[in-house]
Amino acid sequence: MISQVVATARAAFESGKTRPLAWRKAQLSSMIKMLRDNADEFSAALKQDLGRGPEEAWLYDIGFSITEIELIIKNLKKWTEPRKVSTPLVSMPGSSHRIPQPLGVVLVIAPWNYPIQLLLIPVAGAIAAGNAVVMKPSEVSSATSALLGKLVPQYFDNEAIAIVEGAVPETTQLLAEKFDHIFYTGNGTVGRVVMRAAAENLTPVTLELGGKSPTIVDKSANLAIAGRRIAWAKYVNAGQTCVAPDYVLAHADIADKLVDEIRKSVNDFYGVDPQNSGDFARISSPRHFSRLKAMLTSGKVAIGGQTDEQQRYIAPTVLVDVTASDPVMQEEIFGPILPMLTVESIDEAISFVNARPHPLALYVFAEDQKVNDKVVSSTTSGGVTVNGTIFHMTGPFLPFGGVGESGMGAYHGRAGVDTFQHLKPVLKRSTRVDAPLAYPPYTKRKFAILKKFI
Ligand code: NAD
Repeated sequence: MISQVVATARAAFESGKTRPLAWRKAQLSSMIKMLRDNADEFSAALKQDLGRGPEEAWLYDIGFSITEIELIIKNLKKWTEPRKVSTPLVSMPGSSHRIPQPLGVVLVIAPWNYPIQLLLIPVAGAIAAGNAVVMKPSEVSSATSALLGKLVPQYFDNEAIAIVEGAVPETTQLLAEKFDHIFYTGNGTVGRVVMRAAAENLTPVTLELGGKSPTIVDKSANLAIAGRRIAWAKYVNAGQTCVAPDYVLAHADIADKLVDEIRKSVNDFYGVDPQNSGDFARISSPRHFSRLKAMLTSGKVAIGGQTDEQQRYIAPTVLVDVTASDPVMQEEIFGPILPMLTVESIDEAISFVNARPHPLALYVFAEDQKVNDKVVSSTTSGGVTVNGTIFHMTGPFLPFGGVGESGMGAYHGRAGVDTFQHLKPVLKRSTRVDAPLAYPPYTKRKFAILKKFI
């Protein structure tokens, strides 16, 4: 069954039907139509999977995807046409282009935390580049997966664009097939499984992984803004965001004040009892709930700390007096728990970050721009927002992806189409002239002239 789906997609790609821009545009428009026609059902599915309210369902999944797909449609012609580049003197007369070509059949494997955008935005990039696509939503966000499983066959060209629902067995079967590109979003352990399987066929991979994204707060920071932007980014989707601030490294002089500002923002956002707020999400599964609850023993609770197993609720929490050896600092948290560690200097914060795997995101808050510049230039991370959180990945003009342990490759905007096309270098030479200079037999004079060019 799975091999048949892939074979059908391959036959569709080889038939050439996915190449015309009109076909690509029709599929992308249909993707938008699917999201708009069924926005309420998607919103209800996100509520069921993650306890997410309708506003954040729209802002971070449904509407977010539509905005990106609209941008791709608007730029489709420009992003897929040949790109002229310079031609060196030795190849003159001639012209040089990079000609985009689709890769073939693409596999997109998505996680559960933003289960619409993390599946459909890469799929849109793959379609825009002229590929056939097989997509695999996460089984953890089961309601969203079931809805996509029902709708995708209704809205797309079924020969070229297919959905396979399922968990590890189905993904394992998919990974045994030959694809021309695999785009995986999720954790690094499975990222390694994906890359190993891809190696069998020398299939290129994009790995969008996670990690512990640090947030450095300098003593010069605007603490009211820092507190609000950190609280928003940490507690949206109950912390189940790959680019959420994982932990804070606060200058010791301002750490207490920063906790006060975060507390104020939590109250402003979710009221005195966040469990009753319609805007605060729930943990995706009992397994993740238990994993997170165990982390609450690290340090001392300064904000939140309450849990409710039945509802898979964990309050927006800040832990202070945390040390680097505490459980909460040993793995990506991926929940609404924010440990705060103090540092005496920016250099200490930089050393802390550099002693650990490269994170997906890094945030620095300082009014002293020298501090911001120093942190940006002396650390390595997938991306950075200065004096903010998450926003570097929301626009289509900055490619989004990790580095080292946080992944490889990038997407969003033009980068999201380029990921799925081969920019084939093509040099066209003229036959009007054919200087004998480069051909043997070499003479001293010929060599002297050639050395001026090479
Ligand atoms: P998940 O459990 O939904 O897994 C992701 C996908 O991998 C699913 O489709 C699942 O079916 C598949 N899978 C799971 N186990 C597998 C196996 N053994 N073999 C083959 N396939 C398998 O999601 P997750 O990994 O829990 O997602 C959370 C992680 O993803 C976090 O680390 C987070 O930081 C990261 N993430 C990264 C980004 C990004 O854009 N870089 C975005 C979201 C999440």
